[in-house]
Amino acid sequence: MRILEYEGKELLRKYGITVPKGFTAKSEEEVKRATEILNKEVVVKAMIPVGGRGKAGLVKIASNPEMAGEMSGQILGRKHGGYVVDTLIVEEAVRIEHEYYISVILDDNLHIPVLIFSPEGGMDIEQVSKDNPELLIKFPVCPDDGFIPYSISDSLINFGINFSLAIELEKIGRKLARIFSKEDLLLAEINPLVLDVSGNLIAADCKLEIDDSALLNHPEYINESDSLLPLEREVKAKGGTLVSLEGGDIGIICNGAGMGMAMTDMLINAGLKPANFLDTGGGTTRKKIKDICQIMFKQNGLKGIIINFWGSIAVLDEIAKGIIDVCEENKPSFPLVVRLFGNNQDRAMDLLDEANIQTARVVCTEEAISILADAIKGRS
Ligand code: GDP
Ligand code: MN
Repeated sequence: MRILEYEGKELLRKYGITVPKGFTAKSEEEVKRATEILNKEVVVKAMIPVGGRGKAGLVKIASNPEMAGEMSGQILGRKHGGYVVDTLIVEEAVRIEHEYYISVILDDNLHIPVLIFSPEGGMDIEQVSKDNPELLIKFPVCPDDGFIPYSISDSLINFGINFSLAIELEKIGRKLARIFSKEDLLLAEINPLVLDVSGNLIAADCKLEIDDSALLNHPEYINESDSLLPLEREVKAKGGTLVSLEGGDIGIICNGAGMGMAMTDMLINAGLKPANFLDTGGGTTRKKIKDICQIMFKQNGLKGIIINFWGSIAVLDEIAKGIIDVCEENKPSFPLVVRLFGNNQDRAMDLLDEANIQTARVVCTEEAISILADAIKGRS
């Protein structure tokens, strides 16, 4: 779970990393008041759990309370990455001399955490790693205690960083690795880590992600900073999981996240773009299927939906009845294809046929997907 930037900064502060002084605010009035209290140039930022705010015009600098209020008017209510901005961060603006990048993440190949540093922070780090991989450096981190058994500063000097700054950067790297390990994180990123005009290193932005499996150790974050999209939250409340994907227009409803991920690949192979997949989870009663399908059906911008269930414990005719219930109230105007396979499948498919819902009586999910692809083609 991504925690919010201000919560992340509190954690950084607790471990001795300098962060700007600031407040959260929900209205122009609150922004003005915060700016008065800080009594300095401030930065006003959208508090949403996605990056790229700078480029989207959701990070603005203001030199006085009036101006800060005006800026907040331009940010509040804007939409970015699926979130509507309803909260802002107002912080002392940092006077930037240089922006560095520093993070600790789990390395997929090494299967341990690594510290990543780049002398070119501030911008999109994925772009840096593509265009200038020589500007990224990695250090293995001990997964047990976050210790880094290497000298980082020696390597930083190779980037032209002077000795005393390299030592300070190394200290921050060690603190970050410690936070990563102690706080059960999957990601701890500071971008930019700012060197200000007075020579101080300040975390101007951070992204921290707690391992969901460790949330029991961190009850303070469980409700407070739920970073789910509104639709994802609705599905969660019904006992399922919705995973939103970017830029697609096909909805997937299935039982099991593995099936959802496999279907995502299969749709792409068939030239379709998944918008999301919705894993109903266990306990698939008629009512639950109805509720969950309803949430998917009301989503905007879909061109097709595929429902695919493997029935072992789940009884498929119950599932079929749930699908029929929701279609009676609100049948999508675009193609919907249902494939149910396993426990009571024939009875289930008969019910769907009787209700005029398109079924795919096929063994392979790929075949069901190509039926959906044809149905969509037939429309356009
Ligand atoms: P992101 O785009 O969502 O990652 O948001 P950031 O908080 O990282 O801000 C984006 C960019 O805005 C940074 O890379 C900085 O260049 C700039 N920025 C953010 N905070 C400050 C600040 O306090 N002072 C100045 N001068 N620029 C800032
Ligand atoms: Mn950033």
